[in-house]
Order: sequence, then structure tokens, then C-alpha cells
Amino acid sequence: MTQPIRIERTTNPKPRPKASELGFGKYFTDHMFILDYDAGLGWHDARIVPYQPITLDPAAKVFHYGQTIFEGLKAYRTEEGKIVLFRPDMNMKRLNRSNDRLSIPAVDEALGLEALRQLVQVDQDWIPDAPETSLYVRPFVISTEAALGVSPSLQYKFIIIMSPVGSYYSEGIKPVSIYVESDYVRAVAGGVGHVKTAGNYAAGLKAQEGATAQGCAQVLWLDGVHRKYVEEVGSMNVFFRLGDKIVTPALTGSLLPGITRDSVIHLLRHWGLEVEERLVTIDELVEAQKDGSLKEIFGTGTAAVISPVGSLYWKGEKLTIGNGSTGEVSARVYETMTGIQTGRLEDPFGWRVSVE
Ligand SMILES: *Cc1c(COP(=O)(O)O)cnc(C)c1O
Repeated sequence: MTQPIRIERTTNPKPRPKASELGFGKYFTDHMFILDYDAGLGWHDARIVPYQPITLDPAAKVFHYGQTIFEGLKAYRTEEGKIVLFRPDMNMKRLNRSNDRLSIPAVDEALGLEALRQLVQVDQDWIPDAPETSLYVRPFVISTEAALGVSPSLQYKFIIIMSPVGSYYSEGIKPVSIYVESDYVRAVAGGVGHVKTAGNYAAGLKAQEGATAQGCAQVLWLDGVHRKYVEEVGSMNVFFRLGDKIVTPALTGSLLPGITRDSVIHLLRHWGLEVEERLVTIDELVEAQKDGSLKEIFGTGTAAVISPVGSLYWKGEKLTIGNGSTGEVSARVYETMTGIQTGRLEDPFGWRVSVE
């Protein structure tokens, strides 16, 4: 049986940011969800409380050994005013896969889903309704035991915070340039690249800085062993349109199984397109770019949904993808995915979950 969630409402609501100033992850709603874990007691004391700082001992394990994981999903307000989440069950399942890899005790998925539902309801006035805006939801777990020994923490907190976010493409969906990274790697199979844990992102910042210095928006990661198989673009999964097939890197253990990736594969197959999940080398892409068969590249992830790639920088050369503008499959996938997510289109796969 799922434990009850206590609700303590704020008496001091914050001013609402203007839709035009939202950006990504800059403003936070009035409430947050917290669930505590103590060894022997399990997860307990589920509560929604006013958004506030948390106090931790400086020896809390999360600060030293990074035993922490997170998730990311969005709530939308449909044109009829209904509130929906996109495949939240997938996020809770992945949260527990991440927990398992980091030796964090599993969270009751039904309780996590109920917490998402109730928190979104409590702060529903924070869901922006301008086109392409949404409420970004960030569940995460931190290890809080104050002890410097390297061993799984005996205490944790599972917290959910939420942030109204603006349109990712306020000037229309636009392709980005990508730097193919050949020095730094993101992850190796057997490590933690397939789960959402903080260290992956801290370790990626250096390469991202390098890409920015080259005038690129994101890094294209190659595998850590052979340095030739393409894995992800920034913190998105990546798809290639090669001839009439769509190809995406197979889940080899070093890349993150994105929920957008899974949804896009379903959608493309539903349209009758051939989708291959397999190894893809950078050499294959460069050759295909030269012979004209590499028509499109796009990244997929919750934040941007679809991010078309206009060019790749590789070994000092700029390779233009297609004609450098958003490809036709990328545009169709973007329109359809955002349409399903926001309730503008039919939901043939049952992905939307109503919050009422
Ligand atoms: C979160 C994430 C993705 C995308 O996952 P979605 O579930 O589609 O948001 C892809 N790659 C990395 C490294 C990620 O952290």
C-alpha cells in the first residue's frame, strides 16, 4: 500500500515570472516533494512542503562520492486546460535503474508517480500556457548520511522540484553545429553512462567548453574504447537519416536509454519507416556525408524534444548535413512529438497521463 503524502501549503507564494523570461531551469515553483530514507526504516515521511533550501551536514556522502541520481520530465497544459505528464512511468522505472546502479534503495514507483501527480496539482498554476512552454519536473535522490567512509549511505532524500520553462525554440526550430569530441570520453560500458547520475555531467563539462570555444553548441561523443562509435550528442540521444533508413546507436551500456529516443523509434516505425539500432562509426557518417546519403541528424531528449544538427566539426573540417537546415523527418518528428505531448494531436500510443 502506498503511504499517504502530507501537504503543507505555502503562505507566501512567489511572484510568477513572465512567459518571455522563463528560459530553462531558472525559476522554481512554490512547493517541493520530499521523502526520507533511513536504514532500518525504509523510505518514509512523504510530504509536499513550501519550496525551500535543505540543510545538510558537510560530511553528507553526496558531496564527496557523488552517490546521487536524477530524472527529468515535463507536465503540459493542453488546449482544453487539462494537465498531462508524458510517460512518467518510464521515468520512475529509469529512476530505479539508476538507483540500483548507484546502490541506492529503490523508491516505490507507485508512490513516486502519486508524488508527481499531487505536486503538479498543487502547483498547477505554475504550468505556463504559452505555446511550446511546459513545467519541467526534476526528481532526484541524494545520499545524506554524514560519514566519510566509501560505502552506500544509510540515509537519503528523494526530492522533486519543478521549473516552468520557456519554448526551447523561441525563434523556430533551428539546427545546431556539433563538435565531434576525440580526446575526452563520456562513459564506458560497465560504468554509469547508462544511468542519470551527476558524475556523467560533471565529466562532460570540459568537452562542452571546448565545443563552445569552437563555436559549436554541443559535443558528439564517441565510445570510450575504440573512439570510433558514435554514442550521444551532448545529453541527448542521436538519430541519423542514412538513405531511406533511420539509424540510432544501439544501447551498448555506455549510453542513456532516453524516453524520447524510445518514443521516436516507436513513432518512426508507426509511420512505416525502417529504424535500425546498431553501431555507427564516425567514419561511416563522414563517408555518407561525402556521398550525399547522410540526409539528416537530430538529437532527442526531454528538454529540447528534437534538436536538428546542421553541421559536424571533425578533424578541422566542417561537414554540412543535408543543406544545413532542419530536415524533413526531424521537422515531422518534432511537430508530432510536441503535438502528442501537449494534446494538440491524438495519442495513439497512450503516452499522455492525465493529472486530474
Ligand atoms: C536524459 C538524457 C537523455 C535523454 O533522455 P530523455 O528521457 O529522452 O529525456 C539522453 N542522454 C543523456 C546523457 C541524458 O542524460
